Amino acid sequence: MSDERQQGFDTLQIHAGAEPDPATGARNPPIYQSTAFVFKDAEHAANLFALKEVGYIYSRLTNPTVGALQSRLAALEGGAGAVCCSSGHAAQIMAIFPLMGPGKNIVASNRLYGGSVTQLGRTISRFGWNTKFVDFDDPKAIADAIDDDTRAVYCESIANPGGHIADLRAIADVADAAGLPLIVDNTTATPYLCNPIEHGATLVTHSTTKYLTGNGSVTGGAVIDSGKFDWSASDKFPSLSAPEPAYHGLKFHEALGPMAFTFHSIAIGLRDLGMTMNPQAAHYTLMGVETLSLRMEKHVANAEKIAGWLEGHDAVEAVTYAGLKSSPSYDRIATYCPKGASSLFTVALESGHDGCVKLVDNLKLFSHVANLGDARSLVIHPASTTHSQLTDEQKVAAGAAPNIVRFSIGIEDADDLIADLDQALNNL
Ligand code: PLP
Repeated sequence: MSDERQQGFDTLQIHAGAEPDPATGARNPPIYQSTAFVFKDAEHAANLFALKEVGYIYSRLTNPTVGALQSRLAALEGGAGAVCCSSGHAAQIMAIFPLMGPGKNIVASNRLYGGSVTQLGRTISRFGWNTKFVDFDDPKAIADAIDDDTRAVYCESIANPGGHIADLRAIADVADAAGLPLIVDNTTATPYLCNPIEHGATLVTHSTTKYLTGNGSVTGGAVIDSGKFDWSASDKFPSLSAPEPAYHGLKFHEALGPMAFTFHSIAIGLRDLGMTMNPQAAHYTLMGVETLSLRMEKHVANAEKIAGWLEGHDAVEAVTYAGLKSSPSYDRIATYCPKGASSLFTVALESGHDGCVKLVDNLKLFSHVANLGDARSLVIHPASTTHSQLTDEQKVAAGAAPNIVRFSIGIEDADDLIADLDQALNNL
């Protein structure tokens, strides 16, 4: 992996993990549409199951097409290994699963995507896990929320929906001081714009559904492990540091070093939770990732132009795009995403909730959907949709108050998008 990392991003996004197919020479990674893989002999089978040899057993665990995407994402994020899953939400469970146990908690940013607030704040409580949400711009609040049962610190690099940029270095310092892994959801930024591992993240999660695939065709997720966290430094992570009863007593960290988390995620996480990415989805995402840098450049250029235009419109109260000088995140761009602040932001309208709903209905070129990171420009009113399960207080903290509309700017001609916004705003 280290040799690959020395190549440029544009090279890696096309070549990492995708050698010509050893069986046929096919240049494009084939879709290995096979549930199981034939063992060479009994010894080979036993070695694969004992993790003494790496290879393919059964597609719930590993598959060559999915494996190509895993290697590519690990290379792009600068990680030791990656595991792909059926969705971004699956990836989040996969990221925390090896770390947690009944009574353990996560300290998370209160600016997470609404679905993540519900998943981490409510649904996982059925496993006896819970999450404390605090303002991640306040390192002391993070430190104060951490207790003996905390097992991870969790945030988004660029927050959905508000586009707020996290001060990853300051957050990583708090996590490091507490001996905890920092998990960063890098969905909105993508590895082209931000590399959380360089700023101290232990694990990076993605909804590959979004910019990585880039065309709104398949759901998927990924967890990339930096390989740098010392799981054996304390007794907090027995699944990785102590004999794992779910895998005949294997000590993952001792046996697999920097690949401990990734192997645990495959051998136990995918084996027993079954949140597997299918090879078709991996294929679409591999195709999408090949053009990631080009698309992100256009997403950013369009977002900068459109956010600036919206900020000057009379019907608009405020625009949250971090690429605008008016944004409190603006000063963090140079450190965390020097190539731009992605293309997700919100707009507050003078006309409040009713104006937002009307705007969404008036737009013609923008698609009204619950998604982001598509080549197409997208719009939604989060308070009545993606964030509707949150309390009013949580909505405001997450940047999804009732007078807010969220935009995901696509890669169409910016002037056409502005013309559509102009007619929609003028007809409020
Ligand atoms: N993380 C972020 C920032 C998201 O925006 C989303 C979905 O919108 C997710 C995670 C969940 O991803 P998925 O929909 O692929 O499960």
